[in-house]
Amino acid sequence: AKLDGRNTYRFFTPQMHAKSVRALQLENAMRRALERNEFTLHYQPQICLHTGEIRSVEALLRWNQPELGQISPAEFIPVAEDSGQILQIGEWVLRKAITQLQTWHQEGFQKLKVAVNLSAIQFHQPQLPELIGRILLESEISPNSLELELTEGVAISDPKAATLTMDALRESGIWLSIDDFGTGYSSLSQLKRFQIYKLKIDQSFIRDLDHDSNDRAIVNAIIRMAQALGIQTTAEGVETQAQLDFLRDQGCDEAQGYWFSKPVSAEQISALLASYKPW
Ligand code: C2E
Ligand code: CA
Ligand code: CA
Ligand code: CA
Repeated sequence: AKLDGRNTYRFFTPQMHAKSVRALQLENAMRRALERNEFTLHYQPQICLHTGEIRSVEALLRWNQPELGQISPAEFIPVAEDSGQILQIGEWVLRKAITQLQTWHQEGFQKLKVAVNLSAIQFHQPQLPELIGRILLESEISPNSLELELTEGVAISDPKAATLTMDALRESGIWLSIDDFGTGYSSLSQLKRFQIYKLKIDQSFIRDLDHDSNDRAIVNAIIRMAQALGIQTTAEGVETQAQLDFLRDQGCDEAQGYWFSKPVSAEQISALLASYKPW
């Protein structure tokens, strides 16, 4: 047993040890990943279900590590959060995504927006609004071309500070989305208070829509609630025509998923936009 900083004992089992060796390995490899250009961003379209337009693309981080191969963000993001490296990596993601959006705007797709995922640790940096403001200015991108995706837990640990940050971001014109909606804790009053623009309905509710009437009821209730609050809804992980038809019937505003496109490179997004016809 080992006493950690919070005066509680933690017991290490063999499994935990094995896990921490892998985490340590990733953490070390990550130290040089930025300078070695091992990170890239892929982008996945978010489609308006009223018009068929591609309104925005979500930036998703990819890490191609020469020795360890392709590592999923679901595995390395938590390691980066634990080690604090997420701050540097997250800043790189913001800069890269916003610079890429500038390129798409110059290619003629001026209405396109980009959505960036933020970790709670980034969100709790008091300098975050200023940092993002600076990056936007450098790229001559308007704040209302940027969406930030936060998870539901973000406001829980320090609601006062979270409110200040959300207000600062929102007042600058940036759009705030709640990611993985339905899997965490958020009170309805918070949603309204924080001027949330969009709820992204977690893909776990979309996956079995075709044969699970509970999921249909949940998705219906989320869309109704969001509409009553004047908040947009986006369904994540849409893979089938039947899911799409149900979501359009319910008045869901946007969809994202393999049915339209997997996350692809910036060049592939350019090609898609150039040949794309809305409905
Ligand atoms: P997320 O933000 O919920 O992103 C959606 C995930 O669902 C992505 O996984 C995407 O590839 C996947 N997906 C999209 N459409 C479908 C579909 O139709 N079916 C299925 N089965 N999956 C679909 P990915 O790229 O592996 O990312 C996993 C998570 O890692 C993200 O979940 C996000 O929480 C985190 N992440 C990724 N990039 C970043 C980043 O730049 N910063 C931070 N903080 N987190 C990131
Ligand atoms: Ca997301
Ligand atoms: Ca999500
Ligand atoms: Ca997720």
